[in-house]
Amino acid sequence: MNPFNYERASATDAAIKSGAMHGAKFLAGGTNLVDLMKYGVESPTTLVDINHLGLGDVTSLTDGSVRIGALVKNSDLADHPIIKSQYPLLSQALLSGASPQLRNMATTGGNLLQRTRCYYFTDISFPACNKRMPGSGCAAIKGYNRIHAILGQTDRGPESKETCIATNPSDMNVAMAALDATIEVEGAKGKRTIPFSEFHKLPGATPWIETALHPDELIVAVTLPPARFARNAYYLKARDRNSYAFALISVAAGLEMGDGQVKSAGLALGGVALKPWRSVEAEKSLLGKPASPESFRQAAEIALHGARGYEHNSFKIEMAKHGVVRALTLASMGTSETTA
Ligand code: SF4
Repeated sequence: MNPFNYERASATDAAIKSGAMHGAKFLAGGTNLVDLMKYGVESPTTLVDINHLGLGDVTSLTDGSVRIGALVKNSDLADHPIIKSQYPLLSQALLSGASPQLRNMATTGGNLLQRTRCYYFTDISFPACNKRMPGSGCAAIKGYNRIHAILGQTDRGPESKETCIATNPSDMNVAMAALDATIEVEGAKGKRTIPFSEFHKLPGATPWIETALHPDELIVAVTLPPARFARNAYYLKARDRNSYAFALISVAAGLEMGDGQVKSAGLALGGVALKPWRSVEAEKSLLGKPASPESFRQAAEIALHGARGYEHNSFKIEMAKHGVVRALTLASMGTSETTA
């Protein structure tokens, strides 16, 4: 690991100022950043410890929405009475991620910024990775790509500086996408909010740019709109081990039912793209219809429209379609406290 400076910030303004310095990174739980520093993928010159900024509260707002501080730990958020009762989709997703020890350290803001677990990104002995070294190409295209993207990827060949088929590893992000969250950030130029769907970036022509966050900005909170899916929600996660493993595919499904019909729906997939893959078109396709295998299968086809696999991950396309149908079916049967 390279030497680095350590600063403990005691106020948000001071943290933002220090974080804007060239080579500086914010340190919250450190569950991803510290690993990447040990691997040699990240080499910040300064770590700005933000753990003492007082961003650790979950608050109900007067309009029915809920504000989650950026430093709320994943385990505390999953077990929070408001989240468990009103947003069980988020609680289920959080509890399906990582291990209890990691969830005790990992924060809401840090989870938003998790880096991909693409093997060729985290192992610096591989010379080609556009995300780690812009312009170097992509080793995953012709490599072992079991965990890689089937939607929204950029593939112009292994030599292209634009190619990246990585996936976002977070479970929390998938639920927050389906719940239509908003991200609150503060920077040198003031505060702004970013819709969840605009926060994470697909690779496009610049795979090394991962979020809409500016270098001088700090995530301070996430806001969930008034709850709609408390009674009919399900987070489904398919993975190689039943715990402590990233998703091959995951599905966050929420339904608001009335008079035997779907009044509104939230549907997002994980493990399939470089951002949580919310399908607004699939959500719309469910409106006004009964909870039925036919309507769920149609939503799955819409959500996976345009999917393309590679040598080792083509199975994900059908797996994701089945996942959508199963998650919607289980959501329609009523929220349970367990995940698949
Ligand atoms: Fe790097 Fe993306 Fe290719 Fe993985 S998929 S090697 S992260 S460019």
